[in-house]
Amino acid sequence: MDATSSTATHTFIDQEARWGARNYQPVPVVVDRARDCLVWDVEGREYIDMMSAYSAVSHGHLHPRLVAAMQRQLERVAVTSRAYHGTTLGPFLEHLCRIAGFERALPMNTGAEAVETAIKCARRWGHFVKGIADGRQEILVARGNFHGRTSTIVGFSSEPDYRAGFGPFAPGFVHFDFGDMASVRAATTANTCAVLVEPIQGEAGVILPPPGFFRQLREWCTQNGILLIDDEVQAGLGRTGRWFAFEHEGIRPDALILGKALGGGVLPVSAFLADAAVMDVFSPGSHGSTFGGNALAAAVGLEALRIIEDEDLVGRSARMGEHLLARLRGVMQAGRPLIREVRGRGLWAAVDVDPAHATARELVERLAARGVLSKETHETVIRFAPPLTITRDLVDRAVDIFQEVVMRKHRELALGAEAPVTASAREAASIAA
Ligand code: PMP
Repeated sequence: MDATSSTATHTFIDQEARWGARNYQPVPVVVDRARDCLVWDVEGREYIDMMSAYSAVSHGHLHPRLVAAMQRQLERVAVTSRAYHGTTLGPFLEHLCRIAGFERALPMNTGAEAVETAIKCARRWGHFVKGIADGRQEILVARGNFHGRTSTIVGFSSEPDYRAGFGPFAPGFVHFDFGDMASVRAATTANTCAVLVEPIQGEAGVILPPPGFFRQLREWCTQNGILLIDDEVQAGLGRTGRWFAFEHEGIRPDALILGKALGGGVLPVSAFLADAAVMDVFSPGSHGSTFGGNALAAAVGLEALRIIEDEDLVGRSARMGEHLLARLRGVMQAGRPLIREVRGRGLWAAVDVDPAHATARELVERLAARGVLSKETHETVIRFAPPLTITRDLVDRAVDIFQEVVMRKHRELALGAEAPVTASAREAASIAA
């Protein structure tokens, strides 16, 4: 089935391409509605969502309790700005802090805004508490990082595509190699105020650090008076089979960045968390956001946390994640050498495709045409990160289809009847154009 063949699909894709900026290259599926782990396109075709909007839809699409919480709040008040107090923000922040084990939380909207908040906090702390001259503060960041798309954040990306033409960039960021303590030590100076790092590098391709890295990093930061800031925008809130990925490493960071699933898949809600000794460098007027912590977002955020607790989504992620990874490893065994590696933690998996045989994009499009939504990152990685509510049956259905797609490609290659590997990517580009 060719997902791009019908008129309605074409019409919406063409309209987006004509009137929208061309900063994305979506998989050619026009989503019309969704419920829990299933999505239907504008032609009525059904898909299993194995992507969940990069973890934003960890609760499944339109969780009834989130819809109800939103509706209740919409009958009272939605946005006042932080010029006034409200009845939902305090309960949300208290619950969030108690779950994550921090004394204070600062609510924002998108992940990138929470990262910006972390950067500002780290620099202020570096100056006012550590005594680094203002303007000389340095933050260590990992090569291969992804922390968002603001001009400051892309300035310390190591991905040429994210940076090209967007300079000049903010100074004060120093790179180290993810997972390599020698490189962290070499990058540290007396002006280092923080290390900003993902516990697992998501956009880079679900890259796990070597065991022990975070414990050593924690020790290094403690010894040298450096804040360890953990960006769990994608990894947090159950995705890896623990509430927070840092728990796998047996450490506690000095500050935590959350987003995506915090909004329950219905609103952008993010937060920066730290203890008072760090957070209190912010004084009234020094930071803020019109929409950050609005009454509606806070009501949704609180309900999103309660659902994770009540439905044991963390435990489900651990159990279903093990099953997903075991099944994907089975596909890898059968699909070698087309599939090179399977890695992941919890319901967060990456399948590495050998670029000599296929692009990840080609397999992602074939999967979509067969009713499974996934997403490639870079040329070679297919990501699977379904809602944490997914059932074993749906995991099995999705992986069965993936196995068929892989084995079909495998047969094509063995027969020498392979289509040019970039054909489907070119097709998608021409649709987008
Ligand atoms: N940090 C991490 C680790 C992320 O994965 C992302 C988004 N993929 C962000 C920050 C940025 O979040 P947002 O797109 O909501 O700004």
